[in-house]
Amino acid sequence: MGKVTIVDYEVTNKNDFSALASLSIKAKKALDLQPEDSITVLADKGYYSGEQIAKCHDNNIETLVAPKSKGSKSKDSRVTKDKFTYIKKSDHYICPKGIKLHRQGKLYKRHDGIPFKMYVGHWTECRNCPWVGICVSTGSQKASRGRMLNRNIYEDQMDENDIQVNVRKNEYRRRQAIVEHPFSTIKRQWGFSHTNLKSLKKVNGEFGLILLCYNLKRVLSIIGMKGLKNALINKKKTDYNDQKPNRACYEIYFSNPPETS
Ligand code: SF4
Repeated sequence: MGKVTIVDYEVTNKNDFSALASLSIKAKKALDLQPEDSITVLADKGYYSGEQIAKCHDNNIETLVAPKSKGSKSKDSRVTKDKFTYIKKSDHYICPKGIKLHRQGKLYKRHDGIPFKMYVGHWTECRNCPWVGICVSTGSQKASRGRMLNRNIYEDQMDENDIQVNVRKNEYRRRQAIVEHPFSTIKRQWGFSHTNLKSLKKVNGEFGLILLCYNLKRVLSIIGMKGLKNALINKKKTDYNDQKPNRACYEIYFSNPPETS
């Protein structure tokens, strides 16, 4: 699996969709990196959110997040949104039949508050197309309007992420090996398939202790007991000289202590 340890964690009762940026920024801090330093995060499609990907890019965090469909109202695969080409320079789409979809003036807002732009094909062109029945909604046909597509304001960053996932396939494939190792060790080998405590704070503490054991086991297998002792002694000396708190020891020994009941 390589030299992998867990640098940060958080137990939440929310889903992954809005967690990518905050966790990645926390990981950067835990690694003592500066805001201008760059890292790459690998994540599964549960984390695929344009807003989060854009936030990561703003914080010098490259993303390799498995893409999800960006949505299309069409049921026929020949005319789903991914079959339309976006031309960034002139801000319009080209449909599979080579017809332009023009940008409408204003920005609209989705139910979740994310602004999006709207693109529409000319009815004069769509109505003569053999695919009109599968491509243009009945409502649009009645209103003599061509095919409509929307594009949220984060889609440039999502497109960049999708290209990188494709180009860096081998790197992305490492995600499963990296992520599944802690889960298989903790759940299958050690039997921690559930927590014994209740409430977010206590579960955070319990899980923190489990991860502490996991990290110690990893560190011992990577650099051995002698290496760990030397690293702690060196870190202590450096921190003492820098007049900084001994963060390495704090993180190793007291990360999220469980609440005593
Ligand atoms: S209906 Fe219009 S947008 Fe759809 S494929 Fe035909 S020309 Fe293109």
